[in-house]
Amino acid sequence: MELSRSEELALNLAEVRDHVEAAIRDAGRPPHSVSIIAVTKTWPASDIRLLAGLGLRDFAENRHQEAVAKTEELDDIGATWHFIGQIQRNKARAIARYADVIHTLDRAELVAPLAQGALDAGRSDVTVLIQVSLDPGADAGRGGLQPGDLDEVADLVAASGGLRLGGLMAVAPLGEDPYRAFEGLPELSARLVAKDARATTVSAGMSGDLDAAIACGATHVRVGTALLGRRAYLG
Ligand SMILES: *Cc1c(COP(=O)(O)O)cnc(C)c1O
Repeated sequence: MELSRSEELALNLAEVRDHVEAAIRDAGRPPHSVSIIAVTKTWPASDIRLLAGLGLRDFAENRHQEAVAKTEELDDIGATWHFIGQIQRNKARAIARYADVIHTLDRAELVAPLAQGALDAGRSDVTVLIQVSLDPGADAGRGGLQPGDLDEVADLVAASGGLRLGGLMAVAPLGEDPYRAFEGLPELSARLVAKDARATTVSAGMSGDLDAAIACGATHVRVGTALLGRRAYLG
């Protein structure tokens, strides 16, 4: 029997919710302590509308042009928009006009243009998460800053008008055991919470490594494939 897209998304969402709650139980954490962000990159606005109808409110995009088009088309659904792509410096100001939560602040030079974009749009509550690299050998500015630079960037955010420090975000390096990659997150998160008691978000975990991320304290998981299916092109 052929399922409609709406039925397919409802089934996937129920499975992802069950999976997340089971991982929360296994980790000995309180029920519903992890939020699901639907990663809708490459999928049409109509899918986002269906997911909103199923009760999801948090949607993530990783490309500026695509995000602009979807946030404009869907400005009636009351969504919280997350930006999870690498930020080009010349796009930072524009991204802060529509994104509610920006997960990928990975270098100091982005703070000023992001804050300016928030101010331009008359917003004082754009939340930023600092993306930390869990790969000690990685280049700066690619997939997160090194943990040693966390405090400097957090202080810049705190001093900027317009931006609110929300916490941190991380992606497990390809091919690495995600439990080992994520095990340092609680300590990094504690460093931010010591600066700002509201900076409690830990955005970690995707379709393939939800359990590890939730075991290591993720408060938000970013789920694309498990909800929407396999993307036809790399997003
Ligand atoms: C695409 C993407 C995801 C979702 O990945 P899936 O494996 O499809 O769940 C999560 N986080 C980031 C940063 C992404 O770019």
